[in-house]
Amino acid sequence: MASLKILFLASEADPFIKVGGLGDVAGSLPNELRALPGHELDVRLIIPFHKGIQTDYLDIQREDVFTIPRDGGDMPVQVFRTDLRGMPVYLISGSPVVGRPYENAAADGEKYTFFSLAALEFSRRSGWRPDIVHANDWHTASAIYAVRLMQDDLFWGGVKTVMSVHNLCFMGAGSEESLFAYGLPPINDPKVPVWGHHVPMPLGLWAADRIVAVSPSYAEEIQTPEYGCGLEKFLRSRRDIISGIVNGIDYSIWNPLHDDALTFNFSLGDIEARASNKAALQTHFGFTVDPNIPMLAMITRMDQQKGVDITVEALRSIPEVSWQAVLLGTGNPDLEAAVRRLEADFPQRVCAVIRYDGKLSRQIYGASDVLLMPSRYEPCGLAQMIAMRYGCLPLARATGGLRDTIADSRTGFLFTDSSPAIMAATIRRATATFANADQWRAIQHAAMSENFSWATSAEQYAALYINLTTK
Ligand code: ADP
Repeated sequence: MASLKILFLASEADPFIKVGGLGDVAGSLPNELRALPGHELDVRLIIPFHKGIQTDYLDIQREDVFTIPRDGGDMPVQVFRTDLRGMPVYLISGSPVVGRPYENAAADGEKYTFFSLAALEFSRRSGWRPDIVHANDWHTASAIYAVRLMQDDLFWGGVKTVMSVHNLCFMGAGSEESLFAYGLPPINDPKVPVWGHHVPMPLGLWAADRIVAVSPSYAEEIQTPEYGCGLEKFLRSRRDIISGIVNGIDYSIWNPLHDDALTFNFSLGDIEARASNKAALQTHFGFTVDPNIPMLAMITRMDQQKGVDITVEALRSIPEVSWQAVLLGTGNPDLEAAVRRLEADFPQRVCAVIRYDGKLSRQIYGASDVLLMPSRYEPCGLAQMIAMRYGCLPLARATGGLRDTIADSRTGFLFTDSSPAIMAATIRRATATFANADQWRAIQHAAMSENFSWATSAEQYAALYINLTTK
């Protein structure tokens, strides 16, 4: 039986505040770790007290007040405590923690350097010495670097570090001045490109005892020029400490049998009930109500990464194929405009919904036949796992976590090249399969039977923690 203390740092965590997949992970994984049978993992979550966090429904107490040193004057820190299903959650407040989680490079650099160092100092002041500091993405990478710098310190000496990479492309450039001001000097290691000597993500990757990418494929990909964002050579030099663990989804939140957003609830033993959801959605969007027309969907941040432009061109190129499409998302104005143009050109069969809408997203997962995810890169991806759970088959580019969670022709449809023509050919393949009801039902059955619950991922993280602390 392992008994370990883990300080889990993140920039966002559902249900306090969520911007993307990282929020889902930080909101689920710490408690899953605590609940693992056979271990005693005392995981504590610590996040910034962003202004967007609704406090009305939270039981919050002020836990500590102190200062941390910075050039130009000490910075006051306030720490508040609340609970999430029995787990202590600490919220750090101070003058750099303003606005939304992500604002602009300089403000974010100051906010997350302050947060990372304040989190460590709070841990030290409260006498709770973690065995492991687990940081996530660039925002909290400086904490790992700071722990490395403090290895001669009585409190921090011997504390191990784990750095999870949810998205390597965002490195925290713009933090340089803040790092310096808070006393974190640049590194001078020729293995790291010079531009990275004073940037949080490379510093965290340099200092960490273990690096975890959010899928095994992404763990490999970040060591290649195509996905390594300039750090591939350096990461190859650290390949022995890099592994990949796929994220899970919270099965209590994503369950078509109990999802209030759905017009008709259903389960694996009762997939036929989905047809009523599809008819309801076809009516809602003003489409022809016909179970035999495959309904394609995209639910995504509208970002270059997600290949929204590839979807638009692919659909344009196959007007003779029978399909309807609903595209839900918001983000890059050019991509939003491209989706709107597609709707204008195909008003009978395309609906563009340009907003964030959690309820509608659930109705789409529970009604449409195919979820399109032609991502240029996808560290893990949650949408494809949610879709499978809801009997909607993913059609995706074979990259990162998509490659690791979808089996071509068994639980979904995969294609390799980032090209509209190849995607269009794959849509043809999927719609041809859809025309064969038995074959489609078999794939739906396999997809819904997959297990993407957090327990599996949490076991792998626990094994990594134990391995790291028993060496
Ligand atoms: P990423 O974290 O890169 O945005 P993921 O696939 O890991 O991508 O997670 C995306 C999550 O956000 C999914 O739960 C998806 O349903 C949700 N989502 C994305 N865009 C929207 C939207 N416009 N409305 C509702 N939910 C959305």
